[in-house]
Order: sequence, then C-alpha cells, then structure tokens
Amino acid sequence: MIRPLRQDDALLSEIAATRAEPEGFRLWWLGQSGFLVQWRGRHLLFDPYLSDSLTKKYAATDKPHVRMTERVVDPACLDFIDVATSSHNHTDHLDAETLGPLLEANPDLVLVVPEANRAFAAERLGIDPAGPVGLDDGAEVEAAGFRIAGVPAAHEQIERDERGRCRHLGYVVRFGSFAVYHSGDCVPYDGQPDRLRPFTVDVALLPINGRAAERRVPGNFTGPEAARLAHDIGARVAVPCHYEMFEFNTASPEAFVAEATRIGQPFRVLRAGERMVVTEQGGATGAPP
Ligand SMILES: [Zn+2]
Repeated sequence: MIRPLRQDDALLSEIAATRAEPEGFRLWWLGQSGFLVQWRGRHLLFDPYLSDSLTKKYAATDKPHVRMTERVVDPACLDFIDVATSSHNHTDHLDAETLGPLLEANPDLVLVVPEANRAFAAERLGIDPAGPVGLDDGAEVEAAGFRIAGVPAAHEQIERDERGRCRHLGYVVRFGSFAVYHSGDCVPYDGQPDRLRPFTVDVALLPINGRAAERRVPGNFTGPEAARLAHDIGARVAVPCHYEMFEFNTASPEAFVAEATRIGQPFRVLRAGERMVVTEQGGATGAPP
C-alpha cells in the first residue's frame, strides 16, 4: 500500500499552518481526483473520495476495487471546508461516505454538482434536493469567494439528460487572479481547448488513467493527451490525477511526464497528501518534503 506523503494529523497541521497566508494559494492532492484548494483562509474540495466505499461495494464481485494508496485523511476531520464539487455520479466522484461526514462537519458547505444530477446526488446523500447547487455547461456560481464555471466533460462522450444538461462536468474555479481547471473524468473532445483557453488556467488537474476496454468502465485522458490538453489551453502547470487508487484502473505518470517534457508543458507530479504552492509571479513551486 502506498503511504501518502502527509496523512491525517500531519496533513491537517500542514493545512492549518498556512490558513492565514495572504499570498498565492495552496493545493493538496487527496488521491484519485480529489484536491483541496486553500486560498485566503477559504477551502474548496474537488471530487473528494476519502472512504473505502468502492472497495467494500465490489469486494465479492468480478470487478474488485483493490485500493493502492492509503486514505489521506478522515473527511470528518475536515471541518473548515467552504465548497465541495462533484463532477459526476460515479462513486469515486460522488461518495456518500465522504460527503456525508463532510456535510456534518461543515453545515454551511456549498456542494456543487451538475444540475442534471442534483436530485440523484441529494438522494444518494440523503439530503434535501434544494441543498446542492446545480451547474451546467456555461453556467457559473460564486461561493465563499470562489467563482465556479461548468464546462462539459466527455466520459467518454458528452452525455446530456432529456433537458440537454450535461451529466459530466469539468469545473474552472477562479479566485483572486487565479484559475484552476478540474476536468472531471474526461477524454479529449472537439472544441475543448478553445473552450478553456479564455480562462487562462494556472493549474490544470487532469486524469491520466486512459481507457481500456477490459476495465469495463468509461475511460479518461491518457497521460500524453492530458499533457497536450494542458499545453493547448496554455495552462501554467499540469498536475496528473486519477491513478494509484485502484489496481484495476491505474496508470504510471511516466507517459504524462515524457510528453509534457517533450512539448515543454510545465507540470508537477504530486504524491497523495503532497502540497503544491502557487504564487502569482514566480510560477508553481513545491513545498520541501
Ligand atoms: Zn473516476
């Protein structure tokens, strides 16, 4: 089992230590597609998966979800979260065993989901459907100083409900002078770079596990595709994710690193529980381990 760089109390202390830092922002990889953004004392979570619900659900099936990396932190300990997103309904992106304790620890938390999934998400979480904030392609909402825009995600197609609303979304979150793009589960689609370029993304958080028919689950960017998308949209830094969580659905970041290097796309490969510091002038820098 892979040990996170920082875990539990060590991670919580690191987060608390920079809470009042007025400059730049900080980002931690929480495993799979989960990231924590800290900016001026506010905290946003992208797609947290901080439980063993999938491993338990598929334990006795022909699709075992054997965990590769230890859980980074207990969601019940994250009692300072202002906003959390869910990009789509798959459990590694909409997990009742993560979001339940989070909502309990943060009664005022704003949960952002695709509008197409709002009723489903509320039912899974056992909450009032009026609770979550629904977004769609082209819509925007502001919460706790974070401006969140919905963009389509193709997992592996752009799927819309009967009212034409996207079932899978990526989010561009803007705060201060920064923009972070979390693509959700996604493969390349026509027009995607044009759609994203105007946001002048600082950090692009992109899955790299690729697609393989034998996995029998919808796939994502390959590492090289993720590197090229980041380059095409002019992202300052690309960060790979969605690997090293489940043995049947992972990839090495090597191909991402090789392509990013080849095309001159700056990148950062994080370990689970690792922090990245992003500043306005100097580019992204790492925290010393
Ligand atoms: Zn996923």
